Amino acid sequence: MQRLKIYNTLSRKIEEIYPLTDNRITLYSCGPTVYDYTHLGHIRTYINNDILKRTLEYLGYKVIHTMNITDVGHLTDDADFGEDKLEKGAEKHNKTVWEVAEYFTNYFFYTIKQVNIKQPSIICKATEHINQMIDLIKKLEEKGYTYQTSQAVYFDIRKFKDYGKLSGQSLEEKLSAVREEVVLDPEKKHPADFALWFKRTGRFANHTMHWPSPWGDGFPGWHIECSAMSMHYLGETIDIHTGGEDHIPVHHENEIAQSEAATGKPFVRFWVHYAFLLVNGEKMSKSKQNFYTIDDILKQGFHPLALRLHFLSGHYRQQFNFTFKALKATENSYKTLLRKVEELKFINTYLKPDNPSKKDYNLIKKFEQNIIEVLSNDLNTPKALAKFWNLIDLETLNPRLKLELILRLDQILGLRLESIKPVNLTEDLKKLIIERESFKGKKQFDKADNIREMLNDKGFEVKDTKLGTILLSKTTQPN
Ligand code: AMP
Ligand code: ZN
Repeated sequence: MQRLKIYNTLSRKIEEIYPLTDNRITLYSCGPTVYDYTHLGHIRTYINNDILKRTLEYLGYKVIHTMNITDVGHLTDDADFGEDKLEKGAEKHNKTVWEVAEYFTNYFFYTIKQVNIKQPSIICKATEHINQMIDLIKKLEEKGYTYQTSQAVYFDIRKFKDYGKLSGQSLEEKLSAVREEVVLDPEKKHPADFALWFKRTGRFANHTMHWPSPWGDGFPGWHIECSAMSMHYLGETIDIHTGGEDHIPVHHENEIAQSEAATGKPFVRFWVHYAFLLVNGEKMSKSKQNFYTIDDILKQGFHPLALRLHFLSGHYRQQFNFTFKALKATENSYKTLLRKVEELKFINTYLKPDNPSKKDYNLIKKFEQNIIEVLSNDLNTPKALAKFWNLIDLETLNPRLKLELILRLDQILGLRLESIKPVNLTEDLKKLIIERESFKGKKQFDKADNIREMLNDKGFEVKDTKLGTILLSKTTQPN
């Protein structure tokens, strides 16, 4: 079995992924905070995640994929200083926190469906796993990793000797980074200690979402949910954990600390992080309000899968600057691709291509191996796409094998090429084609051209090939 090699943020090396158990890969992805619209930045991250998952599946692994929905407890900065994002979103959109969470959760799933991202096998909401979080905090408390102030229960980062191992930041560096910020809880021992549980008091006295706990009424801090749900659904040590690059220094560092402190075992074997989508050189983000949603893309007449193809043209570890002009160029390539697939489907359905030769089989095998090898080497989608285009452009390949391979590779690319249908060649259309061919045979080109125009008017493009006449629909779109 070919193995996937990927950059592990923890070891800072490209490593071969192999599962802990049989051929089963456990994958946890940090999900969206549902207080505002899902934007193209999120889409890029989740498309990269989808490519990782689909590549693993192609290689023969069974991927058990869990993703959380953060519907409580994420403050407006990654540390514990800001306001609650959900409460802020509720105010902005004039909804209750519960309505905001539901509305934007639905918007997230609507968005990922448009760009053909496979849904995770397990989707879990933070608000439905409060008990698991409380149990984990209790465990940390028993082991002496926590302390309480009048405002919250904190994780004491100095008690966890490996703190900082993911980002490589020392405690001193962390301290100076946090010192810049206003610390709202004077009882906190170290400014970078993070909240496991906020009490419904002080600035959170009127917090709408709250639950009883051994530390009083309140709500969980953001980081604890991912540890609690990852362990609940996938076990104490999982194979892969993913997220955007912003999660490295705080969120994932904290997830490691609280999980490993509780279990004494490694929390995650491979940490994978996706680079940002930028707009005018700045991170696309809800807080900067410099974002576009999938509806902005649709309103401008783009096909959502052209956006998917566009994002695949960049490597997941490199930042990607979004412009509509560049998207337009990719959309043209996407249309070319759809046309080629439609043509191959027409040939295989209605014309009689030769049987594949041994050379065809060998060439196809080589293409497949090359493309999978490139993808398996740190998910190099731009290089894989370049090779995919070579395959598309090679006119001499046997059409049946070529189409089969394109559709097989599309199980990873996810461009819904399978759903492209060839023109329905009715008896009337067949008659017109035969008539036109006969006029051409008799060198009556004016009459042949008239038929071509007639077909054009009916919405068909006519293409003459060695195998015969091909009709293409001018409005091909995947379903
Ligand atoms: P959030 O809803 O902000 O918690 O983000 C959900 C996921 O999208 C996280 O993994 C973020 O790192 C990621 N994300 C947010 N903004 C961007 C961006 N501009 N580019 C790429 N990923 C992003
Ligand atoms: Zn997370």
